[in-house]
Order: sequence, then structure tokens, then C-alpha cells
Amino acid sequence: MTASSKISSIKGFKDLLPDETARRRRLTDAACRVLETYGYGCIDLPLLEQSALFTMSVGVTTDIVEKEMYAFEDRDGTVIALRPEATASVVRAYIQAGLSRSSPVSRFYYVGPMFRRERPQKGRLRQFHQIGAEFLGREDAAADAETICLVDDICRAAKLKGYRIRLNSLGDGECRPAYREALKAYAAARVDELCADCRTRIERNPLRLLDCKQPGCNAAMSDAPMMVDHLSEACKEHHERVLSLLDEMGVETEPDPRMVRGLDYYCRTAFEIVAEGLGAQDSVGGGGRYDGLVESLGGPSTAGVGFAFGIERMELASSLGGGALARAEKVTVVPLDPRAEAPALVLARSMRAVGLDVEVGPSAQKLKAQMKRADKAGARWVVIVGDDELSSRLATVRDMTKKKDYPSCLPLDAGTDAVEAKLRELGVTFGGS
Ligand code: AMP
Repeated sequence: MTASSKISSIKGFKDLLPDETARRRRLTDAACRVLETYGYGCIDLPLLEQSALFTMSVGVTTDIVEKEMYAFEDRDGTVIALRPEATASVVRAYIQAGLSRSSPVSRFYYVGPMFRRERPQKGRLRQFHQIGAEFLGREDAAADAETICLVDDICRAAKLKGYRIRLNSLGDGECRPAYREALKAYAAARVDELCADCRTRIERNPLRLLDCKQPGCNAAMSDAPMMVDHLSEACKEHHERVLSLLDEMGVETEPDPRMVRGLDYYCRTAFEIVAEGLGAQDSVGGGGRYDGLVESLGGPSTAGVGFAFGIERMELASSLGGGALARAEKVTVVPLDPRAEAPALVLARSMRAVGLDVEVGPSAQKLKAQMKRADKAGARWVVIVGDDELSSRLATVRDMTKKKDYPSCLPLDAGTDAVEAKLRELGVTFGGS
């Protein structure tokens, strides 16, 4: 590599510039607020975990573990992986912190990056972000219904266009094995019509035969047996109770008997959220029940249900306003002389303390250039500190919307309260107000 060669980001890994982070924050804030109203607390988890955590939970035969995981050997020989999802980490943390004893019923939510080595395309990245939630310790159908209602409320808060929640039941350890055999037998009789991947799926992961996108496979599997028709009595009762509770709560869902979800750990309720504006990757989120997961990771038998939304896909489907958070008005402070720098910085600090977004311009620039920059940055107010202002110890304020000047009015040395009082008098709107 030469000294002058440019280094760009890795394929499938993206930068987010300030406008984009502002929009993202608005979206995640809206979702987090809903989660908190449902009693969920935020959990922050490591990005690196022992690879075994995912092979044991997500499943060795899933695409995520088989083909997409960024796993490598650490210097001490431990095989570690960048997390491809967070449910396994939440469960690990729950077990590790002893919460299964002290707080068996727990609700967590997380926001953060996940890593999968998929082929990048619209709505598909190698580092993407999820906002997800896990509700541990409740096996009753009301917990599933409450979770799906929460999903519906998040979709509303995020203003997802044309979203729909698709629902299925995947049965459990009692009824799924017999169903898998029925499905394998059906597929084995049509093996010639299936794609190469599906042929290997017959033995390794037959449920995935149902959601292959290849037209040939789709046609071959069109009359395949469906899990919902092979549920045990207990699973059927659970499923019907979830449906009736959702109905009573007024949460609309659509049955989708072919939806199987990619991960091994789901049982009973599984759901997927699709929305408009996403092209081929129309799934904006998904989730379901995973009653065996805590136990399979070494904890006591504990039920669980959860979901994750892909944040990039939420952004594609959301009609929430773009641009920066409109909460605080923007102010640019313009020092016109090196002697004005310190008072400008002090004034800026006072204004930030009362909730304004404040930028201080460079004193080396002329007033005209600074005004242009302030305008471009979307400043609603400009505070000017030049010679006159330095002698009167009062800054001039310009209202950029009304194009009106208030000469020498804002005290430079009187402290935050006096600054705030004067700004209120001028009609400045403060953050949170
Ligand atoms: P999953 O963890 O596979 O159930 O995915 C949950 C959600 O995460 C999906 O519905 C997508 O919105 C999002 N997602 C999964 N993989 C990717 C990816 N490679 N790029 C962007 N978003 C993704």
C-alpha cells in the first residue's frame, strides 16, 4: 500500500453521518419509550462472545452459524465471534447474573450492532443494528399476546408504512419431531424438483424447506404438510389463546403457516413483521417463543419470548421525520475578533446548559461568511460578539427567521440565569420545552 492510497470501509459496513444518526436516534428513542412503558429495562451486552454461545443456541445447521458468523480464534485459542444476534447473549447474561433466582420474570431490551457475513444489498448489511426485547420467565399465552401487542405499538411509534404482523406456531419438542418426519417424507418424494440447498435441508433442517425463495422449491412444497395442522393439544390450545387475546386487544395479525424463522430455538409462537418500502428484504423484524433456550445454555428451565427489529429496515419503512431532532433550537455564536473567542465560548456554554444546540464559529472569518455558515447549519438564532459588543459587554442577537436584529442585548458576564431570561424574552424555544 502506498502512503497516498485511500482506505475505505469494509463491504457491508457503513458510516452514519450526523443527519443520519439524528434520524436514527429519533427512531430508536421512539421505540425505547414504548419498551419502557411495557416495563422493559435496557441491557448493554458485549459485541464479542464465545462462539459456542451461538452454535449452542442459534443452531449449528442455521445459515447464521454455518455461513455468516464472524468467528475467529483469539490469541489464547478461544474461538470467539462477533455477535450475529443478541437473544443468546441476553439469556447468557440472565443466567450469569443469577437473575433466574433473584428476578425470574425479567424484561430486557437492547439496541446495538449485529454482524452477519451476508451478501450486501438494499436493507442487508454485514454490520446492521437491531432493537430487540426479551421477556423471560413467563410461559403463558398472555405473555406472547402482550409481546405482539408491544411489537404493534413499536411499529406505530416508528410510523412503519403498511406494516403487517405474520403469525405462526412452530409446535414444541413434543409435536415437532413427528411433523419434521412428515415434512421430510413429503420433500424426499419431490427431491428432483428441489434446489441444491433444499436437498441438503431435507436431512439437516427440513423446516427451512418451507421458506426457500426458489420458484421450483416453492411449487414443489406448495402442498406440504403445515405445522399448524400437526400441533399437540397443548400447543394448539396455546396458539388459540394467543389469537383470541390478540383479537380482544384489537391487534391485527395474519396467519402465515409457511413462516418458520431462521433460528433453531423457537417453539410455539413465531412472528414476523413486514413493511412497505423494503424491496426483496421485506422483513423488518421477527421473533417468537423460545422456552428451551435458557436450559440449553445451562440455566434452569425458564420460558422466554422476544423479538428483534432491524433498525436500517425500520428506517427504510418509516415515515418519521428525517433531519435532526427538532427539540432544541439551533444557535450559532459568531465571534468577530480573537478577543471575542472566550466570551463567545462562555456564552455558548451557558446556552447549552439551558438546552440549546450551540455552535461557535471561527473568529478568523468575516461576519458575512459566518452568517452564511450559520444559515446553512440551520441556525434559528445568531449571537454576534464584535467590537461594540465587547465594549458594552452585551452581545447582539439576530432572529434568522424574522430577519431581525436585537443589538447589544445579551449579557456576556451575567451568568446562565440572566442569559436564559433574556433569551426567553426574545422568544427562544428551549430543549424539552
Ligand atoms: P433475525 O435476527 O434474523 O430474526 O432478524 C431480525 C431482523 O433483523 C430482520 O427482520 C431484519 O430487519 C434485521 N436483519 C437481519 N439480518 C440483517 C442484515 N444482514 N442486514 C440488515 N438487517 C438485518
